[in-house]
Amino acid sequence: MEKIIKFVENSSGFDNSNKLRLLLLLAGVKPSAYVQLRITNNLHDKHDFEELLKEKGIIFEASKAKGFEEIVKVDSAAHWKLKGTWYGYDLFSTKPYAERFLEYVQLLKSKKHELADMMAGIIYGYPKCCIEKFVKQHQKINKSYYQHFKELNDMDKAFPFICHTPCSLKCKATKKLNNLYKNTVKKVSPKFFKEYSKKSTHRVPVVVDIENDIPGMWKKKDGHDYIYVTKAPINGKYLIISWLTKAVFKRGDVLDADVTVQYDFASLKIRKSIGHIKNFHHERHFTKL
Ligand SMILES: [Zn+2]
Repeated sequence: MEKIIKFVENSSGFDNSNKLRLLLLLAGVKPSAYVQLRITNNLHDKHDFEELLKEKGIIFEASKAKGFEEIVKVDSAAHWKLKGTWYGYDLFSTKPYAERFLEYVQLLKSKKHELADMMAGIIYGYPKCCIEKFVKQHQKINKSYYQHFKELNDMDKAFPFICHTPCSLKCKATKKLNNLYKNTVKKVSPKFFKEYSKKSTHRVPVVVDIENDIPGMWKKKDGHDYIYVTKAPINGKYLIISWLTKAVFKRGDVLDADVTVQYDFASLKIRKSIGHIKNFHHERHFTKL
């Protein structure tokens, strides 16, 4: 097996969505990717990763080091703690893609957002129909709140291997791409494929946090896409989950729930309300949520 594939599989510096994008790029099915490498006790990973990228002929640009925080405790608040540093990597399979990226940055700088979005779609290999829909999305949404978020959630579930927002649940190009990516990952890294596809359910209390919304878009809401924080870690980490419901909760409500984790997202089955945390908030020292 290629050294760099093995490195990606075993590095603790990449989470699953970053591993997925990297493997797709390395397998040659995705032209460019942006990934984040987190450094905690894996101090050698930055150097090793860059050496392996050079060996493989991947063009890359690394950002400066930035700090990252993680939730370490949830009681009357979610407490965050600085855990390490991270680097952002822009990765390109070939020189023309790297050059297009420079054009993209230029377009952003000159505030030509539509052209920039079109260019980004080409750089990262998104289907044309989905790029066009994405560019138009800044206009009014002709769906109710519930319909809008339901569609987004359904698309996440239907296409767990793609890296873009599909134009619709029926998008043929997205379906094709999802299958290609799925089969590619299965082939180049059966180990990651198994890990990524594994489904597990955990009974754990969750705290209702804020609600996803587009300000000014809906006069009346027919549902609520709340964000929940798990009150205990799942596989070593406190999770932040978005979940759509017709029920109404208050920020700080504590719910007994079954959290099912698969691919890069989690779904909830709420059993019952078991309490309330007054003035629930996040305590972060480093960055604001
Ligand atoms: Zn599409």
